[in-house]
Amino acid sequence: MTILHLSEEEIQDYTDGLSTAGQQAHVAACASCKLRISNYQSLFSELQTLDRPAFDFDLATLVLAQLPTAKAQYPWLPALAAVLSVIFCAVIALCYGSLIGQFIKGMSQIWLLILLCPGAILLSLQALHLYQDYQSKLTEIKLQDLAT
Ligand SMILES: [Zn+2]
Repeated sequence: MTILHLSEEEIQDYTDGLSTAGQQAHVAACASCKLRISNYQSLFSELQTLDRPAFDFDLATLVLAQLPTAKAQYPWLPALAAVLSVIFCAVIALCYGSLIGQFIKGMSQIWLLILLCPGAILLSLQALHLYQDYQSKLTEIKLQDLAT
């Protein structure tokens, strides 16, 4: 019959106080596992007495200096797209404004609702997203204030 001792990971967890009732019962009856736990406890207590390594430089500053700064490849592209969209809509409204007005007046109310409801839902979701983004940035700023 083979005895199933605790694994190294289970022994380390046991030393940290993370054990199950079955493991505790095994350790109470097993001299081998008791010895291994005792060895880990000695090791961990010796590690606690050692001085922590101290660097004479700020590692975070050195790493941050090496990181490339993120720049958008085409920062003017969203503005150009917005301007072109406004120009396109203005041209369409100037050329076909009366036709669009007649089309909307001729539509039944159910088609107006079918067109307007998704727009209202999308607008509401966008507003909700902007609000959540605003709240998370506000929380981030508060955390940065607390850290300094
Ligand atoms: Zn054992």
